[in-house]
Amino acid sequence: MQTHNLGYPRIGKKRELKKACEQYWSGKIIQKELLDVSRRIINENLKLQQEAGIDFIPVNDFSFYDHVLDMTLTLGAIPQRYHDVILNKANNELDLYFAMARGYQKDGLDITAMEMTKWFDTNYHYIVPEFSKGQSFKLLSNKIINEFIGARQIGINAKPVILGPVSYLLLGKEKEEGFEKLDLIDNLLSVYLEILKSLQSHGAEYIQIDEPFLALDLTDKAKEAYTAVYAKIQKELPNLKIILTTYFEGLEDNLPLALSLPVDTLHVDLIRKPEQLENILAAIPENLKLSLGVVDGRNIWKNDFESSLQLIRKAKEQLGEKRILIAPSSSLLHVPYDLDLETKEESLPAEIKQWMAYAKQKIKEVALLRDLSSENPSAESLVAFGENKKAIENKRISTLIHDAKVQQQMDALDAVPVSRQSAFTQRKVQQQEILKLPLFPTTTIGSFPQTKEVRSWRSQFKKGEISAERYTDLLKEETKNTIQRQEKIGIDVLVHGEFERNDMVEYFGEQLKGFAFTENGWVQSYGSRCVKPPVIYGDVSRPEPLTVFWSQYAQSLTSKWVKGMLTGPVTILQWSFVRNDQSRKDTANQIALAIRDEVLDLEKAGIRIIQIDEPAIREGLPLRKKDAAVYLKWAVLAFRISASSVKDDTQIHTHMCYSEFNDIINHIADMDADVITIECSRSQMELLDAFADFEYPNDIGPGVYDIHAPRVPSKEEMVKLLEKAAKVIPSSQLWVNPDCGLKTRGWDETEKALIEMVNAAKEMQKEFAAIV
Ligand code: GLN
Ligand code: ZN
Repeated sequence: MQTHNLGYPRIGKKRELKKACEQYWSGKIIQKELLDVSRRIINENLKLQQEAGIDFIPVNDFSFYDHVLDMTLTLGAIPQRYHDVILNKANNELDLYFAMARGYQKDGLDITAMEMTKWFDTNYHYIVPEFSKGQSFKLLSNKIINEFIGARQIGINAKPVILGPVSYLLLGKEKEEGFEKLDLIDNLLSVYLEILKSLQSHGAEYIQIDEPFLALDLTDKAKEAYTAVYAKIQKELPNLKIILTTYFEGLEDNLPLALSLPVDTLHVDLIRKPEQLENILAAIPENLKLSLGVVDGRNIWKNDFESSLQLIRKAKEQLGEKRILIAPSSSLLHVPYDLDLETKEESLPAEIKQWMAYAKQKIKEVALLRDLSSENPSAESLVAFGENKKAIENKRISTLIHDAKVQQQMDALDAVPVSRQSAFTQRKVQQQEILKLPLFPTTTIGSFPQTKEVRSWRSQFKKGEISAERYTDLLKEETKNTIQRQEKIGIDVLVHGEFERNDMVEYFGEQLKGFAFTENGWVQSYGSRCVKPPVIYGDVSRPEPLTVFWSQYAQSLTSKWVKGMLTGPVTILQWSFVRNDQSRKDTANQIALAIRDEVLDLEKAGIRIIQIDEPAIREGLPLRKKDAAVYLKWAVLAFRISASSVKDDTQIHTHMCYSEFNDIINHIADMDADVITIECSRSQMELLDAFADFEYPNDIGPGVYDIHAPRVPSKEEMVKLLEKAAKVIPSSQLWVNPDCGLKTRGWDETEKALIEMVNAAKEMQKEFAAIV
């Protein structure tokens, strides 16, 4: 039995790559220094896996920004607008690469970056390839070969990892009409063959080709492409051993197709879909080897050896050990580096830490599982097995995880209201009696500029350099200023500004029971940007109010309405590492109950408008279409659990942004928030297309300006957008607000933009008062 790994994190143990890239971009280091950092990271990763005893160690899993963009560069799929970057002789391959990733504003050029989007259902973002009709490809970069040779220089005959041709095309976007991206497959394949041949001639024995789409819903055309592509590769390179990987979903209806492809090994994700093993074993052809993805590449929990070994034994019984590989379920890109770097007992207690594993630990687990499933496991492995069993058992019964009170609440969940007392039309009348808002009411999404000062107070407070009292006083002062600024600008529904929050999920997690925080649990989100998700390890509950203090304080400063500001259950779930011992749905419901307590406390404290943000609701959508309905049902219900217990005259808002919402608009309506503020200015209100045939029943504030740039939008352009909106949504339902929170902006442009926005709303009021 052999082991392999699909990919190792690339940001460096201490985010060295992030730091080096950012220094390079700002001109603080030269390219050679950046390359040195990358070489060190790559070599360290390779050696670590070699020492752990992994047989096929991945190479070319490293990337300066994103592995899909790497492929785009390698294949010479450079969009026309970057050709001027190449013309400048001072620029080399890496400069072109970063120009595509980040845009290029130099030497009189102003070229936008390529689009970025989420990598399947992860929080990793890739750069979307752009395709044109009849496009040709050519081998432009030798990155793959170079990294393969680099590994050999330290004595490792590594396994190159390449994004497969069909998945590469499916990840991209057609930039003009009149063709389908899969039409490009023949042009593309010739370059792939060139790469594979070159790798083989340099001595590569195994090559991993990632085809994640093989585990998703496929069109007939895509299926045909798979058959044709792999037949051709087999014909041209009959001796090359291909490990074809699928992950994040099960093969299901594509199983016959996957098993028919002429490759050496097929890798399957047995974390997401352990039940698929049975079907695979029943149908696997005689020469195919199977790679069992039994160690979770997407989460931070220790592997349960006992249950992994069951799967391995089952496969071994039928296939024999020679036809089995043991591996993580997916690339380890999505987990942090090394649990040993977590040393702070206050944030991550030892009892919780013993249940966890990061990339380095997971690699060891893979090697241990191999040994444990052999005829004669070493004494050392058996000791490790014993320890593993203990940790798993400890987790199963730990009182840190299992909270009887939360369990009681969950048992009584059916008694919690999931609908408001009255329908929206009635609620709206009651709310308006109290709120007395004008037509086209104005508001913002919650956060106001987190200036250098605000951030420095927080860091001083965290380091113990200023007292809690002093920190609170500073934040109070900032909140007060913010209320005054909003009053002066003339906004109708104010917010307190969220200065006390570092991050919209972390802030809540830190105050809820069942969450732990890490010091070094960084994972790459996009480019040099990393996130450190909280760890939901146990039953979630709210020991005391979370936000009432700040909302109440802000409301005491003004006679206008201040909107309470909460993060919703699905977003908290989606942006955390979650428990693997209960369903996501149950965890979402526990969070929903905690948020509901907070909503009710805000109401009691006199807050009449409460916003529950759910920007991540769309991200949670399962990868397979058939699973969407079940997810949407519980996700919407979790929101309704958190929001439905208030009185009719309390106004509930929600907010969403930066996702494709058109296809789930009916489910969004089903959340029954009184008001939704939703991002759409970047697409010039493309979202409104959804309202052509769907009558959104409640109030809605389509964002009228993009908050990503310091640019101040004019009143006129916002009026135009609002007029466009008023064509498909009754004016009595429309709110006026920016696309998203303003925390990344400066005060100067924020005030100017909001003045324009308020004037745009006034203009609309005039226009429509005349009509009414
Ligand atoms: N209330 C949050 C803010 O204004 C919402 C952020 C978000 O949508 N991601 O910052
Ligand atoms: Zn937002």
